[in-house]
Amino acid sequence: AHLERIEQVEGKVNAFLHVAAESALAQAAEVDRRRAAGEELGPLAGVPVAHKDVFTTKDMPTTCASKILEGWVPPYDATVTERLRAAGLVILGKTNMDEFAMGSSTENSAYKTTSNPWDLTRIPGGSSGGSSAAVAAYQAPLATGTDTGGSIRQPAAVTGLVGMKPTYGGSSRYGLVAFASSLDTPGPFARNVLDAALLHEAFSGYDPRDSTSINEPVPAVVAAAKQGDVAGLRVGVVKEFGGEGYQPGVLNRFNETVELLESLGAKVVEVSCPAFDYALSSYYLIAPSEASSNLARFDAMRYGLRVGDDGTHSAEEVMALTRAAGFGPEVKRRIILGTYALSSGYYDAYYGKAQQVRTLIARDFDAAFAQVDVLISPTTPTTAFPIGERADDPMAMYLADLCTIPSNMAGNAAISVPCGLADEDGLPVGLQIMAPTLADDRCYRVAAAVE
Ligand code: GLN
Repeated sequence: AHLERIEQVEGKVNAFLHVAAESALAQAAEVDRRRAAGEELGPLAGVPVAHKDVFTTKDMPTTCASKILEGWVPPYDATVTERLRAAGLVILGKTNMDEFAMGSSTENSAYKTTSNPWDLTRIPGGSSGGSSAAVAAYQAPLATGTDTGGSIRQPAAVTGLVGMKPTYGGSSRYGLVAFASSLDTPGPFARNVLDAALLHEAFSGYDPRDSTSINEPVPAVVAAAKQGDVAGLRVGVVKEFGGEGYQPGVLNRFNETVELLESLGAKVVEVSCPAFDYALSSYYLIAPSEASSNLARFDAMRYGLRVGDDGTHSAEEVMALTRAAGFGPEVKRRIILGTYALSSGYYDAYYGKAQQVRTLIARDFDAAFAQVDVLISPTTPTTAFPIGERADDPMAMYLADLCTIPSNMAGNAAISVPCGLADEDGLPVGLQIMAPTLADDRCYRVAAAVE
């Protein structure tokens, strides 16, 4: 049924870079066979999933929506991929994204522009915009994403889905093509809170192949999603997120949700996190710095594209020609920003300073969580914007992640859950719920109460 749905609407939505119809049917048949043989299968066995093209898959191409990886089929599966398969999930294909996960609209894909199923002239969010569009368009009930600065929560918010960024280290980065290694976090998309929790549980947990993986049990997210009770819970509204620059309809839905939580017995207070005002600027030093180092591996020798290898160019020239042709403008911008911030003489002023701000953000969270159980804010300042509106204005694009970035900087858990439609445009609004490190279950508990 989902493959048929993809056939019907994919021409309009453009969510996928690769549809694996044949292998999906074979995987589904394999689940049937295992079930018939009496094997105990998990709750998601046989359920289709759309997989972000940033995770390696040994039977499908993995491009990160970049020309530099065109045609590359990895020799191994990411841990997330491996666990999806082990749980019996059926991988429908690989979803479109901003190139190397850099962006908030999926317009930075080198291959295609994905549309928001709510309004095809608008963006589906990013960087995991193919995943959000696929689930919102009913092409898949579930999808994977990665969140480095908001790339699961922001696309979930603007397409009316649930999207979760687990605690950093709670889900494995092994086989996830690296953007900013200290921030990258795999997580789930779904149309409701329980489905998201089931997918979260299916692929998360300790992985010895990821050096920053946390060796602790997965928080009880499924039980929390079923519970959905907030009586007595202390909820902090982040003072710094709201007001100027926020769409009135977004703030209206947010304020109503605060009232809803109070009516359900939560104790709501305002909490100030002053360092959050500097999260965006410090993120745009740290993330590009790490990216400039990570992307050095695309050297025209090891993977994908190779340009100018005709006997007339030196190896260095081939490398330069390949990178010039293979990386898009946003990726080049990040590499230049990152190498600049890391260069000797500027390191202390930029990268070093940004790391100090990162510590202050983590301290703000610690102080806040000494007072409250969770923090809340709008997920994004605005609803989905029109395709093209911010394409030539990187600063406007970066602002989409204003509220989501602090949780990447500190590594704590955060979710986006739908909280209604904006008055101005009838488009979905997301509520962000942030919880301490390894308290991912609290995100699901509050989200289930709001849903
Ligand atoms: N939009 C942010 C960026 O462009 C975050 C992207 C992400 O989380 N992968 O860096």
